[in-house]
Amino acid sequence: MKLILIGIQGAGKSTQGNLLSKELDVPYLSTGHIFRMISLEKTPAGRYIKETMNAGYLIPDEKTLEIVTEYLGRPEYQKGYILDGFPRTTGQAEAFKNGINKVVYLKVSDKEALWRLSGRASENRADDTLTAIRKRIELFHRFTEPVIEYYRQKGTLLEVDGEKSIEEIFESIMKQLPKNHA
Ligand code: AMP
Repeated sequence: MKLILIGIQGAGKSTQGNLLSKELDVPYLSTGHIFRMISLEKTPAGRYIKETMNAGYLIPDEKTLEIVTEYLGRPEYQKGYILDGFPRTTGQAEAFKNGINKVVYLKVSDKEALWRLSGRASENRADDTLTAIRKRIELFHRFTEPVIEYYRQKGTLLEVDGEKSIEEIFESIMKQLPKNHA
């Protein structure tokens, strides 16, 4: 099973991603996590990614695609995966040809996301300042909402109310997933 999780920051993608990974027995992969690891490297690429992330901006499509393609080519992802944080632009979605089964959209209002994130801001992520969070929300509407439409038209979108409880959201996703997935 190859799943993509889409949602504003704070929508609960990593929580649901980890639950789905266990249930479906496929690895969970987050591009934000990959970029945070690269940002620790003391190289020009590491510094560039760190600055871009800390400002809340997106890494350019070409670089993002290169990294995601490299990861998904690894043996552990051949059976399937839960991908969180990618694609975030229509450029990324159009270039990504990987036989995705479903795209799960966790729908949460800006207000709810900001409320959840203000509690966790800067606890453990250097790129989690309120300014960066607001920027990410703005970029989500501008660049990622068209990605949701792209998958809706392809018939692969599965929409879930992300303001329900963790258990209810998980159940709702599982109910809507195709049965007999490999
Ligand atoms: P996230 O943990 O998904 O909120 O991602 C944190 C940061 O990593 C984002 O604000 C971007 O700077 C970068 N990032 C993650 N995924 C992508 C992507 N698909 N395209 C561009 N930038 C990304």
